[in-house]
Amino acid sequence: MKQHAIVIIGGGPAGLAAAISAAEQGEKDILILERDRELGGILNQCIHNGFGLHTFQEELTGPEYAARYIEKVERMGIPYLTDTMVLDLSSEKVVTAVSPTEGIFQIQAQAVILAMGCRERPRGALNLPGYRPAGIYTAGTAQRLVNVEGRMPGREVVILGSGDIGLIMARRMTLEGAKVKVVAELMPYSGGLKRNIVQCLEDFGIPLKLSHTVVAIHGKERLTGVTLAQVDHDGRPVPRTEEEYSCDTLLLSVGLIPENELSKNAGVALSSATSGPVVDESFQTSVNGIFACGNVLHVHDLVDFVSEEAANAGRRAAEYVRETSGESSEKRMKCGESRKDLPESQAACEEWTAKMPEKEVSGILDILPGDGVRYTVPSVLHLAQMGETLKIRFRVRKEYKNSCVTVHAGDRQLFRRRKQIFVPGEMEEAVIRREDLNAALPADTITIRIEEV
Ligand SMILES: Cc1cc2nc3c(=O)[nH]c(=O)nc-3n(C[C@H](O)[C@H](O)[C@H](O)COP(=O)(O)OP(=O)(O)OC[C@H]3O[C@@H](n4cnc5c(N)ncnc54)[C@H](O)[C@@H]3O)c2cc1C
Repeated sequence: MKQHAIVIIGGGPAGLAAAISAAEQGEKDILILERDRELGGILNQCIHNGFGLHTFQEELTGPEYAARYIEKVERMGIPYLTDTMVLDLSSEKVVTAVSPTEGIFQIQAQAVILAMGCRERPRGALNLPGYRPAGIYTAGTAQRLVNVEGRMPGREVVILGSGDIGLIMARRMTLEGAKVKVVAELMPYSGGLKRNIVQCLEDFGIPLKLSHTVVAIHGKERLTGVTLAQVDHDGRPVPRTEEEYSCDTLLLSVGLIPENELSKNAGVALSSATSGPVVDESFQTSVNGIFACGNVLHVHDLVDFVSEEAANAGRRAAEYVRETSGESSEKRMKCGESRKDLPESQAACEEWTAKMPEKEVSGILDILPGDGVRYTVPSVLHLAQMGETLKIRFRVRKEYKNSCVTVHAGDRQLFRRRKQIFVPGEMEEAVIRREDLNAALPADTITIRIEEV
């Protein structure tokens, strides 16, 4: 069996940023495994601009953003294998992969970074009544056909779902000469970024019908039309609100699901809210030495945040490798083997023991989504490994106007920020300071909630 210090599964923006950051920490033995024929992930098919405003203060296209990271990976000489699909991952960090040149092979990794991205929810998950005619695509598949393969899926289009991919494809299909008749959204709000609603729908006069869904699909060989209806608060169609739209193409943009089959095989605990791994402040999962970042962890709206998180995961994975190699690993064992009970690293263990009176600090806090918050990343904090600050990312459950996000540990408020509007389509963040948290101890939980003003 081959051996590598860090194996990264997935060569999209998350995998690339994690690899660069681990290498910058001095880790030399890294391998990226990518099933596609090239690195870059989903960005390769996103030829619109809007990427990199936070990271590079420039508006780049998806391939341009990816190229900056790919060039750096090449320059730093970080090894990668493309056309290589990971088939299995065990809890002992044995990676089983297959490629046309190598056949099936196995790698024993010291640390693994999960960066497999996510997949689109297909028609089968929606219970749409009707035959199964040609002409029904997920929006991402249509995007690949148009932008990479150079093929048009159809000429008259209805889009179900107003997440960012659906909005971007409404504009893309229009620019390629198709007529996009309507975008229907089940929820009373759009799942996409405001800027995409303006730039992709409003600028092109494409109607957005909120609280609407497809209730019938027409056509047997090829799609000939769909029926839309309004839905009530429970998502049930309202009688006599049906409207027929003739079309040859229906694009589905009805949600992304983190790609976690491999994580499940490895025994990684998944969150029911995100469908991604539960991670701590180091982006380490419930399995020692397995880290997660990017869309496999939770679906991001902006790639810049993917790169930022992944860089942290890469840095922490490199630290993990250093600390579990040789002498320090023995010392670490003295601190206990269960990472749920004690700090992970030897250095952290010493700091924890030296600085924190046991009665004051349990060492581990759960980060909980309170009122109005759907999930948080991370959801566990090992105090001993917290830096000066901790950034908590989250999404709200519904639209809130003129409200505050607050973070509390016990009764003490650690963070408060007022905002005109919170929407589920936009990822939010709150930053807490170590100093403030120390003052709130002892506490077992940190709770983040939305308070309507
Ligand atoms: C249509 C669309 C439009 C977007 N628009 C914007 C935008 O305007 N601005 C913005 O900032 N962000 C945008 N995003 C979001 C951004 O592209 C994503 O957040 C980002 O690509 C996620 O990075 P990732 O590395 O986690 O996943 P991905 O890019 O999906 O990469 C995952 C990689 O893992 C590989 N992989 C999966 N399973 C395996 C396996 N078993 N073995 C080997 N390899 C595997 C995949 O082939 C893929 O290359 C958009 C996304 C989409 C889909």
